[in-house]
Amino acid sequence: NFMTIEVLQIACLDDNYGFLVHDNATGATASVDTPEVAPINAALEAKDWKLTHIFNTHHHADHAGGNEALKAQWGCTIVGAANDAHRIPGIDVQVSEGDLYEFGATRVKVIEVPGHTSGHIAYYFEQDDVAFVGDTLFALGCGRLFEGTAEQMWVSLEKLMALPDATTVYCAHEYTQANAAFAITVEPDNLALQARIEEITKLRREGIPTVPTSISLERATNPFVRATSADLQNTIGLTGADPVAVFAETRKRKDHF
Ligand code: ZN
Ligand code: FE
Repeated sequence: NFMTIEVLQIACLDDNYGFLVHDNATGATASVDTPEVAPINAALEAKDWKLTHIFNTHHHADHAGGNEALKAQWGCTIVGAANDAHRIPGIDVQVSEGDLYEFGATRVKVIEVPGHTSGHIAYYFEQDDVAFVGDTLFALGCGRLFEGTAEQMWVSLEKLMALPDATTVYCAHEYTQANAAFAITVEPDNLALQARIEEITKLRREGIPTVPTSISLERATNPFVRATSADLQNTIGLTGADPVAVFAETRKRKDHF
């Protein structure tokens, strides 16, 4: 199971994760988002890696706030959404849906996933089956709809769910325990969810991250991608309703949970 990239997950701020992606063949190293400069630099130093790229998922300060300082220090190339170029600090390369960006000896596919913000994108490393989804999909959750409609977000989540089951999914926040507390209220009879919550509780008690997750695990347990679940539909009083309506109601309930 040869990996072309190595991923290093870095705890930042209160509950963010930053990520370094290192291309083994060429030494190219990207920071996926820039939540906090000092821990990113510490991780680079520990690994003896040099920062060559920043891949931004969206413009929020806890994702792009370190762009300018890191670019000034490393002279790295900043990649971000063409749709959001005006608010990604220091952007050099603008990318859009389906673009394949050459990163070292591997390539990264751009997936547009609007909803949390209008220009949110995800990065999919095809060769290694690894996705960075920012604040679109969380373990047992999804991002708040700051700039998009429920329908847009549903389409975005469906795009991510179309990735292979085994895809390793890196989410940008450790929100899993709070998400779990909500998820069980809307899908109380989901056995896979019940089992996962036990596991999450153990991990968090020991301070172990619940990120990364996988597409198959989210499909089985995350109510925000399970709009066709009868248990979910019945619990929220939308039996047989269309998936967008079920998703919209689920998101609304979480906002008020
Ligand atoms: Zn955000
Ligand atoms: Fe965030």
